Order: sequence, then C-alpha cells, then structure tokens
Amino acid sequence: MKNQQSTINNQQLTISIVIPVFNEAANLSELLVRCLKTCNRMDRLFEIILVDDGSTDGSRDMIQAASNQYPDVIIGILLNRNYGQHSAIMAGFAQTKGDIIVTLDADLQNPPEEIIKLVQKAEEGFDVVGSVRVPRRDTLFRRMASQMVNKVVQMSTGITMHDYGCMLRAYRRHIVSAMMQCSERSTFIPVLANSFARHTAEVEVQHAERSAGDSKYSLWKLINLQFDLLTSMTTFPLRLLNVLGGIISAFGVGFGLFLLIMRLIYGAAWAASGVFTLFAILFIFIGAQFLAMGLLGEYIGRIYSDVRARPRFFVERIVGESQLDAGVGPRAESGACANTDPPKT
Ligand code: UDP
Ligand code: MG
Repeated sequence: MKNQQSTINNQQLTISIVIPVFNEAANLSELLVRCLKTCNRMDRLFEIILVDDGSTDGSRDMIQAASNQYPDVIIGILLNRNYGQHSAIMAGFAQTKGDIIVTLDADLQNPPEEIIKLVQKAEEGFDVVGSVRVPRRDTLFRRMASQMVNKVVQMSTGITMHDYGCMLRAYRRHIVSAMMQCSERSTFIPVLANSFARHTAEVEVQHAERSAGDSKYSLWKLINLQFDLLTSMTTFPLRLLNVLGGIISAFGVGFGLFLLIMRLIYGAAWAASGVFTLFAILFIFIGAQFLAMGLLGEYIGRIYSDVRARPRFFVERIVGESQLDAGVGPRAESGACANTDPPKT
C-alpha cells in the first residue's frame, strides 16, 4: 500500500533537464533527438532547458530553432557572453519548474538515455543523485587529476561521492531552491548541492568519447575550476597559514632553547659563534608573520562566508500548524483540536 502511494506521488513528479551549451553545434541535433526520446519514454511532464553560454558557432540559432519547433518542452536561455559551465547551469536552474532537475553535458559524453536511471534513483527519495562514469573515456591526465580532486573533496566534505567531475546529476527541487539562494559568483555545483543534501546516492553511468568538437576546458580553465571547487568547499587554506605560522614559530623557539643549552655546555664558540642564533630568531619572526597573516585570513574567511550569503539553514518541510497562524486560540475552535488546554503562560 505504501509502495503504491509513493508510485502515485512519483508519477506526478515533473522533470527539468538543464544542459549548458558552449559551441556545441555539431552535437546539438543528436543531443535533442536522444533527450526528447528518453524524456518521452519516462511518461512524465518534462522540460528541456538549453543554456547557450555565449556560443559563436551557430548553437544559439539552433537552440532558438529547436525552441520554436517544440515550444512546450524546449526552452532556450541565451546568455550574452561566456560565463562558464557552472554559471550557465545556475542560469538554467533559475528557469526550472520541475520536481526533479537533471543536468548533463551537451557533448554526448553523458548518454541522455542514462537520465532515466538518475530520475528513478531521485524518486526513491534521494536529494542528490551523482553518477560515476564507467569506464571513463578521457585522457590519462584528466583521469588522474580528477582522481586526486575527488579524494581531496571526499576528505574535506566527508561525503563519499566518487566522481565530482561528472555533471550528469539529479537534484530534488528543494536542493536547487537552496542553491539559488547562494549569491557567490564562482561556484562548483556538485559540492554546493551536497552542502544542502541529507540523502545522496550514486549510480554508474556510461561515458562516451566526445562526440564532436574539442573539450571547452583549456588547462587554464581547468585550474580555475579547481580553485572554484576549493573555495566553494572550504576556507581551510586560510587557516593553514595560522597552523604553518605556529609550527615555524615553535620550531624557532625550540631551536633557540637548544642553542642556549648547547652554548652553556660547550661555550660561545659552539654553533658558529651565534650565527645559528640568528636563524632561531629569524624562524620566530617568520612564524609570527604567518600567524598574523593567518589571523587576517580568519577575518577574510568570515567576510567571504558573509559575502557568499549562503542560507544559514534550509527548511525542507514544516509539520503541524501553529494556532497563532489562524489568529484564533484552541478554545475558539473547540472540538477541532485535541488539546483544549489554554496556552501556558
Ligand atoms: N560548457 C559551457 N561553458 C563553458 C565550457 C563548457 O557551457 O565555458 C559546456 C559544454 O558545452 C558542455 C559542458 O559544459 O556541454 C562540458 O564541457 P566539456 O565537454 O568541454 O568539458 P569536459 O568534458 O572536457 O570536462
Ligand atoms: Mg565533455
């Protein structure tokens, strides 16, 4: 009975697909055909939101044409210039109306057919459904860099997801709403989403070689993305200055004491007549500088947190209704409320 209930509810769930597009003219036609086919198979209401991230190769016109052809299901969002994949997805999120929101890449590396798997998992009640690409079809350099980054993210967030780089993901509505309330400019969506999620899951998905065109991530853009990831996750590197300062200072003090003891035992000629003492003093001062920088870092970290203006908490649901909402006490509605005691003062 309970199962049947959840199926009935799930059948009403609507789907939004968000796809960032940057110079993907060669892939768009096949992408749309496969996405439409997959969505139709799911037998739900859906919308496909294509976000043009300042393309210069005709993708823009193709999106416009597709949206004219299927005005009910394909929505084009045309950004005025290139803002980057994650900003483009955020622009798409702002337009979504579905209960489950799925993101994927436009280059067909994420097979659109896998959307069904993600939606099914999200329907089981997971807030965020990630995916793991098996086997991954990228260069060795990209695979190794990705492995390293995934390990670091797992360690810092404590959330064991294995493939943060894969953008084929599904989110429940409330997670997207929470993300929309964050006002930071540079962001890394999978990490941001996880910061609001309680139940996360992963599914294995196929990964294809890029269908046409080249990766839109140059080495420089990739490095930038890693910094976005790091800063969206933690301000710990700022705190590291403090730790480093403390260690260097302690080493300086320890070294100074050691020199003092050795001098008392062996006389002034030991340790190059005081040259080493200068080192000890130097260490103490360098450490002090790091500590001071770390202190500044603590303040900057707090300013950064405030500037990002992430919601302090996110209410998923409120159960019960206060008698104050209706503006009447329990006595006025006698019989409607089991507890008819007057409110305690
Ligand atoms: N993309 C984007 N803006 C950018 C770079 C990429 O919208 O500035 C899109 C791109 O069109 C694709 C997705 O983001 O749909 C992933 O890009 P890409 O396949 O080049 O990344 P890779 O697979 O090499 O990580
Ligand atoms: Mg790709």
